[in-house]
Amino acid sequence: MKEQKLRPQLVADHNSLERIFHRPENEQSRNVLTKYMEQILFGLHDFLQKHVGITEEIPLKVLAAQFTSSKIARTPVKKLADIITEIIEEIAPQAVNVSSPYFIGHMTSAIPFFMVHLSTIVTALNQNPVKIETSKVVSVYERQVLAKVHRLLFDLDETFYNIHIQKPESTLGSFVEDGTLANLTALWVARNRLLPSTSDYAGADRDGIASALNDRGLRRLTIMVSELGHYSIRKAAGVLGIGYDAVTPIPVDSANRMDLKVLERTLKEHHRDPETSVMAVIGIAGTTETGAVDPLPSIASLCREFGVHFHVDAAWGGPVRLSERYRGLLKGIEVADSVTIDGHKQFYLPMSNGMVFFRDPKAMDAVAYHAAYINRPGSVDLGIRSLVGSRSATSLVLGSALDIMGAGGYALLIDHGIETARLFAEEIIRRPMFELITAPELNILTYRLVPGELRGSEDPKEPANEEVRLRLLNKINIKVQRMQREAGNSFVSRTTLRRSGRPDTVVLRAVLMNQRTNHKILNAILDEQEAIYRNRIAPTLRLNKAMGLTP
Ligand SMILES: *Cc1c(COP(=O)(O)O)cnc(C)c1O
Repeated sequence: MKEQKLRPQLVADHNSLERIFHRPENEQSRNVLTKYMEQILFGLHDFLQKHVGITEEIPLKVLAAQFTSSKIARTPVKKLADIITEIIEEIAPQAVNVSSPYFIGHMTSAIPFFMVHLSTIVTALNQNPVKIETSKVVSVYERQVLAKVHRLLFDLDETFYNIHIQKPESTLGSFVEDGTLANLTALWVARNRLLPSTSDYAGADRDGIASALNDRGLRRLTIMVSELGHYSIRKAAGVLGIGYDAVTPIPVDSANRMDLKVLERTLKEHHRDPETSVMAVIGIAGTTETGAVDPLPSIASLCREFGVHFHVDAAWGGPVRLSERYRGLLKGIEVADSVTIDGHKQFYLPMSNGMVFFRDPKAMDAVAYHAAYINRPGSVDLGIRSLVGSRSATSLVLGSALDIMGAGGYALLIDHGIETARLFAEEIIRRPMFELITAPELNILTYRLVPGELRGSEDPKEPANEEVRLRLLNKINIKVQRMQREAGNSFVSRTTLRRSGRPDTVVLRAVLMNQRTNHKILNAILDEQEAIYRNRIAPTLRLNKAMGLTP
């Protein structure tokens, strides 16, 4: 940051405090505050328009050297006006322009501009839905928003919603910080329902996992999820006292969907073992790496057969239910016991908003907690059956966005993402220098750059050559991705696909969710990758070869 000029007129005193906690006292200060809001809206907006690139080319180390002060200044050093200008002019350009249509590498993207207004309202109202006394109408409003998304997922009948939407004893779902906490909440409920308190035992929640297992002659619980499960599942297993290793990864088929035969076999094995109990099976509706959707209806029937909690991690894919054209891709989600959705992904909400839903409006009773000072038994406070305590009223943002966009508006975004991903896949297949690795089921695909000289030289008699070829391809793709990111014009992410029985494969990963990303932009991104290979990577490979070195 710039060296701060000394501003002797800035003092911390009661007069200043009076001003910042009260409404603007006159026309002039009103105008000043309005001007600030304008600056935020249009200053940032202009910035995001101008910088189609992703970020400026400054190493993180250089940036880190600018933020090394650990002292809080005794006297105020900046005015709000300075802060706004500084963030717009100095922070924003070094941040990541996730709203660029050339930024197609992550699940974070452009958001509709009205989200800024909605977030401002939420901040200005500053409600706390943990308790009726700090949120009142917002808590019943929130119940309505939760019911709308519940209905989108589970599609139960009108009578069901009439009964439960505002019934204090019913809980259709819960807002949390993110998908990680949504998954944790779902698994927390599953654990407590599996090990409840009875007349003989205190449950896992009160007595701890060790003695709850002991009481029932169990040695372990297990959670099954495909080997593409999000790492939040393992975190949850750790927090819930079950242990990371209790997560049993089920292999995937060639389309990256959970292998049902292995799932069935594993369920049977665990069923026969009297010391193991299966806490939950998780189907993924849009894996983080490839966007694949597990065969939810078949997983659901296996769960029913074995009496196991069926959770669907739809953090990414959930909103696809809004699209009439593609909602069928999530078939089976409607019979899940619980579902995770991230609002900050395909509901296009600002960071951060996670949600978890339960088909059974009584399910969350398993985690109800009555703290005497904050809520009484029978109270309607939302904090009773929730992992989080105080939180912001993000239901206002989601509820308003649903009104502003309509299911139809969201469907346009979803359809555009899926259809653009398909176009991109076709283009990748058309180009000789690329290989499509995972075709898009939703709006995520993976591919890699395969130069002609490294194409299809598979020789079954020479597995060693094949290994060298794969290693070289991995290296090339790591380099291409890094060089493109560092150039800062566009961004595609990179991941390593690790599948049991197959060699590790470094791939480029594209997430298509920006409605301004079009065919021309996608071609430009591929052109840039080809140019990086041709001009910067191929020459070094040739040099190494000429010198007799394996690259
Ligand atoms: C993004 C994601 C999560 C975790 O979400 P966060 O909001 O980052 O905590 C979990 N599961 C899947 C499938 C995801 O894509």
